[in-house]
Amino acid sequence: MESSVPPIGDYSLETLAVRAGQQRSQFNEHSEALYLTSSFVFDSAAQAAARFSGAEEGNVYSRFTNPTVSAFETRLAALEGAEACVATASGMSAILSLVMSLCSSGEHIVSSSGLFGATQQLLGTIMPRFGIQTSFVEQTDVAAWRAAIRPETRLFFLETPSNPLTSVADIAALVEVAHQRGVLVVVDNCFCTPILQRPLDLGADLVLHSATKYLDGQGRVLGGAVAGPKRLTDEVFRFLRTAGPTLSAFNAWVLLKGLETLQIRMQAQSAKALQLAQWLERQPRVTRVYYPGLRSHPQFELASRQQKSGGAIVSFTVKGAREEAWKVVDSCRLLSITANLGDTKTTLTHPASTTHGRITPEQRALAGVSEDLLRIAVGLEGVVDLQNDLETGLSAI
Ligand SMILES: *Cc1c(COP(=O)(O)O)cnc(C)c1O
Repeated sequence: MESSVPPIGDYSLETLAVRAGQQRSQFNEHSEALYLTSSFVFDSAAQAAARFSGAEEGNVYSRFTNPTVSAFETRLAALEGAEACVATASGMSAILSLVMSLCSSGEHIVSSSGLFGATQQLLGTIMPRFGIQTSFVEQTDVAAWRAAIRPETRLFFLETPSNPLTSVADIAALVEVAHQRGVLVVVDNCFCTPILQRPLDLGADLVLHSATKYLDGQGRVLGGAVAGPKRLTDEVFRFLRTAGPTLSAFNAWVLLKGLETLQIRMQAQSAKALQLAQWLERQPRVTRVYYPGLRSHPQFELASRQQKSGGAIVSFTVKGAREEAWKVVDSCRLLSITANLGDTKTTLTHPASTTHGRITPEQRALAGVSEDLLRIAVGLEGVVDLQNDLETGLSAI
């Protein structure tokens, strides 16, 4: 590495998104270099020993660090206003690594009940086998979070807005409750990204990402990240370098390019989502629309304060149950039937039978995922085309 350009300084988010973290090699490339190498060579046996012991900084092996991955970590840390960031192979491996490095057997987590399905399974079903219990509470009920704290509680885990019902947690209020009792607050910021919401500014201790979603933004690669103070991300890093779910250099390179357009994508997709949500509210076969940018949303005021806009996820219920919801899915021609979200191509999902299909019916009921519910992750197509497609879908009921 020859130089780091430019210094991060006090640049705006737009500038950080395209510039932060770049390291130019001796070739002075303009676009970030992709270092596809599993290991790095040393000048001498003494240097090898110093690198391995940590006495000298530098790359050793790509399970530990890689320059392309480091560039992505620096850029995302700059966007989140974090001191440090560690990248992981997927969003789920970010969550796993975080829990494995910050919690021990006998400790406890309080989490919102409306979680991404795999997160719910990890915390509710897998981690208890290793002695880490999670209590699930209604995310808008601050008193319920306070009441769920035990002496052994280590973390508050929240996703806001939640998936798929877009319920909004009051980050600052939960931080106050947690910090009074020495509990860390972790926010999964996947739906908003730092463009719309910066949890660390509100006092959260760590931010998590499924980079697979908006950070890539074009449905190409999986990735994840944990950002926050170095003393905490270092603990996650120690688990990662040993256990191995690190981000690949190739995926990091794709994600670096994704970050460069994050702001304009988030703004455009969010504006389209608001238009679509308002339109859905007027459709006779739609019974309820969930979108934090709508006045009808129960936490509209909070969302307006906490987020720059409502985001790009819109959920709604239709007249009927599973059969009717599936008819809408099967009759749309343009919207992609896929569980992914955060893509430039709009996607349509029936959460109860897909993303939330593997959790128990009780967990599903607690998360509010009913059979008549559909979720749209709005992309970059024309709003009129999306409306026409949904109109075809809804008229099939
Ligand atoms: C997708 C998602 C995850 C998991 O991320 P992967 O990259 O699929 O492992 C976690 N949290 C939220 C909110 C998600 O949408």
